[in-house]
Amino acid sequence: MIYLKTDDEIELLRRANLLVGDTLAEVAKLIRPGVTTRQLDTVAETFIRDHGAEPTFKGFPNPYGPAFPASICTSVNEVVVHGIPDDTPLKDGDIVSVDCGVKLEGFCGDSCYTFAVGEISAEVRTLLQVTKESLYKGIEQAIAGKRLGDIGYAVQTHCEAQGYGVVREFVGHGIGHEMHEDPQVPNYGKRGSGKLLKNGLCIAIEPMITLGSPQVALLDNRWSVITQDRKPAAHFEHTIAIHHGKADILSSFDKIEAIEIK
Ligand code: MG
Ligand code: MG
Repeated sequence: MIYLKTDDEIELLRRANLLVGDTLAEVAKLIRPGVTTRQLDTVAETFIRDHGAEPTFKGFPNPYGPAFPASICTSVNEVVVHGIPDDTPLKDGDIVSVDCGVKLEGFCGDSCYTFAVGEISAEVRTLLQVTKESLYKGIEQAIAGKRLGDIGYAVQTHCEAQGYGVVREFVGHGIGHEMHEDPQVPNYGKRGSGKLLKNGLCIAIEPMITLGSPQVALLDNRWSVITQDRKPAAHFEHTIAIHHGKADILSSFDKIEAIEIK
Protein backbone atom coordinates (compact mmCIF):
# COMPACT_ATOMS: atom_id res chain seq x y z
CA MET A 1 0.00 0.00 0.00
CA ILE A 2 1.61 3.26 -1.12
CA TYR A 3 0.89 6.17 1.17
CA LEU A 4 1.26 9.56 -0.56
CA LYS A 5 2.27 12.46 1.70
CA THR A 6 0.74 15.91 2.11
CA ASP A 7 2.85 19.07 1.88
CA ASP A 8 2.91 19.27 5.70
CA GLU A 9 4.09 15.68 5.95
CA ILE A 10 6.81 16.32 3.36
CA GLU A 11 8.09 19.21 5.50
CA LEU A 12 8.26 16.91 8.56
CA LEU A 13 10.12 14.33 6.48
CA ARG A 14 12.51 17.09 5.41
CA ARG A 15 13.26 17.95 9.06
CA ALA A 16 14.05 14.31 9.85
CA ASN A 17 16.20 13.94 6.74
CA LEU A 18 18.13 17.16 7.35
CA LEU A 19 18.95 15.82 10.82
CA VAL A 20 20.35 12.71 9.13
CA GLY A 21 22.48 14.94 6.88
CA ASP A 22 23.72 16.87 9.91
CA THR A 23 24.52 13.59 11.72
CA LEU A 24 26.50 12.29 8.74
CA ALA A 25 28.39 15.61 8.67
CA GLU A 26 29.31 15.12 12.36
CA VAL A 27 30.61 11.67 11.43
CA ALA A 28 32.46 13.11 8.41
CA LYS A 29 34.46 15.40 10.71
CA LEU A 30 35.94 12.33 12.45
CA ILE A 31 36.75 10.09 9.52
CA ARG A 32 40.48 9.47 9.32
CA PRO A 33 42.87 6.53 9.69
CA GLY A 34 42.81 5.23 13.28
CA VAL A 35 39.22 6.08 14.18
CA THR A 36 36.97 3.10 14.94
CA THR A 37 33.50 2.68 13.57
CA ARG A 38 32.27 2.28 17.15
CA GLN A 39 33.53 5.83 17.85
CA LEU A 40 31.57 7.04 14.82
CA ASP A 41 28.47 5.25 16.10
CA THR A 42 28.75 6.82 19.57
CA VAL A 43 29.01 10.31 18.11
CA ALA A 44 26.08 9.69 15.77
CA GLU A 45 23.80 8.30 18.48
CA THR A 46 24.56 11.16 20.86
CA PHE A 47 23.96 13.75 18.14
CA ILE A 48 20.65 12.18 17.10
CA ARG A 49 19.32 11.97 20.67
CA ASP A 50 20.56 15.49 21.53
CA HIS A 51 18.34 16.70 18.67
CA GLY A 52 15.23 15.02 20.07
CA ALA A 53 15.21 12.10 17.64
CA GLU A 54 15.56 8.33 17.85
CA PRO A 55 18.10 6.31 15.84
CA THR A 56 15.78 4.02 13.88
CA PHE A 57 18.48 1.45 13.14
CA LYS A 58 19.15 0.68 16.82
CA GLY A 59 17.17 -2.41 17.75
CA PHE A 60 15.89 -2.86 14.20
CA PRO A 61 14.53 -6.41 14.11
CA ASN A 62 16.07 -9.17 12.03
CA PRO A 63 13.96 -12.29 11.44
CA TYR A 64 17.13 -14.38 11.09
CA GLY A 65 19.12 -13.20 14.13
CA PRO A 66 19.63 -10.50 16.74
CA ALA A 67 18.31 -6.96 16.33
CA PHE A 68 20.71 -4.37 14.90
CA PRO A 69 22.96 -3.25 17.78
CA ALA A 70 23.99 0.26 16.64
CA SER A 71 22.67 3.63 15.47
CA ILE A 72 24.49 3.68 12.12
CA CYS A 73 25.60 1.04 9.65
CA THR A 74 29.32 1.28 8.89
CA SER A 75 30.18 -0.80 5.84
CA VAL A 76 33.94 -0.96 5.16
CA ASN A 77 35.45 -1.87 1.76
CA GLU A 78 33.86 -5.18 0.62
CA VAL A 79 30.92 -4.73 3.02
CA VAL A 80 28.04 -3.51 0.86
CA VAL A 81 25.44 -2.69 3.52
CA HIS A 82 24.56 -3.32 7.19
CA GLY A 83 28.12 -3.28 8.53
CA ILE A 84 28.10 -3.30 12.35
CA PRO A 85 30.29 -0.72 14.11
CA ASP A 86 33.18 -2.30 16.03
CA ASP A 87 36.61 -1.56 17.50
CA THR A 88 38.64 -2.07 14.32
CA PRO A 89 40.44 1.16 13.39
CA LEU A 90 39.87 2.46 9.87
CA LYS A 91 43.01 2.37 7.72
CA ASP A 92 44.43 4.69 5.10
CA GLY A 93 42.93 3.61 1.75
CA ASP A 94 39.69 2.18 3.22
CA ILE A 95 36.25 3.32 2.24
CA VAL A 96 33.35 3.33 4.68
CA SER A 97 29.67 3.69 3.84
CA VAL A 98 27.83 5.31 6.74
CA ASP A 99 24.08 4.75 6.60
CA CYS A 100 21.95 6.63 9.12
CA GLY A 101 18.26 6.61 9.98
CA VAL A 102 16.33 8.73 12.47
CA LYS A 103 12.75 9.23 13.58
CA LEU A 104 11.88 12.82 14.46
CA GLU A 105 8.35 13.98 15.31
CA GLY A 106 6.99 10.70 13.96
CA PHE A 107 8.72 10.83 10.57
CA CYS A 108 11.77 8.98 9.31
CA GLY A 109 14.98 10.14 7.70
CA ASP A 110 17.34 7.81 5.83
CA SER A 111 20.53 8.68 3.97
CA CYS A 112 23.92 7.12 3.29
CA TYR A 113 27.30 8.42 2.13
CA THR A 114 30.49 6.53 1.28
CA PHE A 115 33.63 8.20 2.64
CA ALA A 116 37.26 7.82 1.68
CA VAL A 117 39.63 7.20 4.61
CA GLY A 118 42.88 9.04 3.91
CA GLU A 119 44.13 8.47 0.37
CA ILE A 120 42.25 5.92 -1.71
CA SER A 121 43.17 4.44 -5.08
CA ALA A 122 42.04 6.18 -8.27
CA GLU A 123 40.03 3.07 -9.13
CA VAL A 124 38.01 3.22 -5.92
CA ARG A 125 37.66 7.01 -6.10
CA THR A 126 35.99 6.57 -9.49
CA LEU A 127 33.65 3.93 -8.02
CA LEU A 128 32.51 6.44 -5.38
CA GLN A 129 32.08 9.22 -7.94
CA VAL A 130 30.10 7.10 -10.39
CA THR A 131 27.88 5.65 -7.65
CA LYS A 132 27.06 9.15 -6.40
CA GLU A 133 26.40 10.29 -9.97
CA SER A 134 24.06 7.35 -10.47
CA LEU A 135 22.02 8.43 -7.44
CA TYR A 136 21.45 11.83 -9.08
CA LYS A 137 20.69 10.17 -12.44
CA GLY A 138 17.97 8.22 -10.63
CA ILE A 139 16.67 11.34 -8.88
CA GLU A 140 16.44 13.14 -12.26
CA GLN A 141 13.89 10.52 -13.30
CA ALA A 142 11.81 10.91 -10.12
CA ILE A 143 9.21 13.20 -11.62
CA ALA A 144 5.44 12.92 -11.79
CA GLY A 145 4.34 10.91 -14.82
CA LYS A 146 7.50 8.76 -15.03
CA ARG A 147 7.62 5.25 -13.58
CA LEU A 148 9.71 3.45 -10.97
CA GLY A 149 11.50 1.52 -13.71
CA ASP A 150 12.82 4.80 -15.12
CA ILE A 151 14.70 5.43 -11.87
CA GLY A 152 16.21 1.94 -11.80
CA TYR A 153 17.10 2.07 -15.47
CA ALA A 154 18.97 5.36 -15.03
CA VAL A 155 20.99 4.06 -12.07
CA GLN A 156 21.73 0.71 -13.68
CA THR A 157 22.82 1.98 -17.09
CA HIS A 158 25.09 4.66 -15.60
CA CYS A 159 26.92 2.11 -13.42
CA GLU A 160 27.01 -0.80 -15.82
CA ALA A 161 28.49 1.46 -18.52
CA GLN A 162 31.56 1.65 -16.24
CA GLY A 163 31.63 -2.14 -15.82
CA TYR A 164 30.36 -1.99 -12.25
CA GLY A 165 27.90 -4.39 -10.61
CA VAL A 166 24.42 -3.38 -9.46
CA VAL A 167 23.33 -5.28 -6.34
CA ARG A 168 19.89 -6.81 -6.84
CA GLU A 169 19.13 -8.22 -3.39
CA PHE A 170 18.77 -4.83 -1.66
CA VAL A 171 16.73 -1.90 -2.94
CA GLY A 172 15.43 1.54 -2.05
CA HIS A 173 11.99 1.99 -0.50
CA GLY A 174 9.09 4.22 0.34
CA ILE A 175 9.54 6.20 3.56
CA GLY A 176 7.26 8.09 5.95
CA HIS A 177 6.09 7.18 9.44
CA GLU A 178 7.97 3.93 8.80
CA MET A 179 11.53 3.72 7.54
CA HIS A 180 10.58 1.05 5.01
CA GLU A 181 7.26 1.54 3.25
CA ASP A 182 5.98 0.53 -0.17
CA PRO A 183 7.05 0.71 -2.93
CA GLN A 184 10.38 -1.04 -3.37
CA VAL A 185 12.77 1.08 -5.46
CA PRO A 186 15.23 -1.19 -7.32
CA ASN A 187 18.49 0.12 -8.74
CA TYR A 188 17.76 -1.68 -11.99
CA GLY A 189 14.78 -1.74 -14.29
CA LYS A 190 13.17 -1.12 -17.63
CA ARG A 191 12.26 2.31 -18.90
CA GLY A 192 8.55 3.02 -18.72
CA SER A 193 7.82 0.03 -16.45
CA GLY A 194 6.58 -0.23 -12.89
CA LYS A 195 4.45 2.00 -10.71
CA LEU A 196 3.52 5.49 -11.89
CA LEU A 197 5.28 8.27 -9.94
CA LYS A 198 2.83 10.75 -8.37
CA ASN A 199 3.05 13.88 -6.29
CA GLY A 200 3.42 13.03 -2.60
CA LEU A 201 5.41 9.84 -3.23
CA CYS A 202 8.37 9.83 -0.81
CA ILE A 203 11.13 7.33 -1.47
CA ALA A 204 14.72 6.55 -0.57
CA ILE A 205 16.86 5.97 -3.66
CA GLU A 206 20.03 4.10 -2.74
CA PRO A 207 22.36 2.60 -5.35
CA MET A 208 24.61 -0.15 -3.94
CA ILE A 209 27.31 -0.56 -6.56
CA THR A 210 30.25 -2.96 -6.72
CA LEU A 211 33.65 -2.62 -8.36
CA GLY A 212 33.47 -6.26 -9.47
CA SER A 213 30.66 -8.81 -9.56
CA PRO A 214 27.30 -7.82 -8.02
CA GLN A 215 27.03 -11.19 -6.23
CA VAL A 216 26.75 -10.80 -2.46
CA ALA A 217 26.85 -13.01 0.63
CA LEU A 218 25.63 -12.64 4.22
CA LEU A 219 28.15 -12.76 7.07
CA ASP A 220 27.61 -14.99 10.12
CA ASN A 221 26.41 -11.97 12.14
CA ARG A 222 23.22 -12.26 9.99
CA TRP A 223 23.37 -8.56 9.11
CA SER A 224 26.42 -7.58 7.10
CA VAL A 225 26.37 -8.14 3.36
CA ILE A 226 29.69 -8.50 1.52
CA THR A 227 30.68 -8.89 -2.11
CA GLN A 228 31.45 -12.52 -2.92
CA ASP A 229 34.62 -11.47 -4.76
CA ARG A 230 35.65 -9.23 -1.80
CA LYS A 231 36.00 -6.22 -4.08
CA PRO A 232 34.82 -2.86 -2.67
CA ALA A 233 31.27 -1.54 -2.89
CA ALA A 234 29.83 1.98 -2.61
CA HIS A 235 26.45 3.13 -1.33
CA PHE A 236 24.87 6.58 -1.58
CA GLU A 237 21.29 7.32 -0.53
CA HIS A 238 18.95 10.28 -0.57
CA THR A 239 15.35 10.49 0.58
CA ILE A 240 13.27 12.45 -1.92
CA ALA A 241 9.67 13.55 -2.40
CA ILE A 242 7.87 14.01 -5.67
CA HIS A 243 6.62 17.49 -4.99
CA HIS A 244 5.07 19.95 -7.44
CA GLY A 245 5.82 17.42 -10.18
CA LYS A 246 9.52 17.07 -9.61
CA ALA A 247 12.10 15.57 -7.26
CA ASP A 248 12.58 17.45 -4.01
CA ILE A 249 15.67 16.06 -2.24
CA LEU A 250 14.80 15.99 1.47
CA SER A 251 18.16 14.77 2.77
CA SER A 252 21.36 16.71 2.07
CA PHE A 253 25.03 16.06 1.42
CA ASP A 254 25.89 19.80 1.53
CA LYS A 255 27.50 19.80 4.98
CA ILE A 256 29.29 16.51 4.33
CA GLU A 257 30.76 17.77 1.05
CA ALA A 258 31.85 21.05 2.67
CA ILE A 259 33.87 18.98 5.18
CA GLU A 260 35.22 16.61 2.50
CA ILE A 261 36.77 19.36 0.38
CA LYS A 262 38.56 21.04 3.32
MG1 MG B 1 19.79 4.00 4.60
MG1 MG C 1 17.22 3.18 2.95
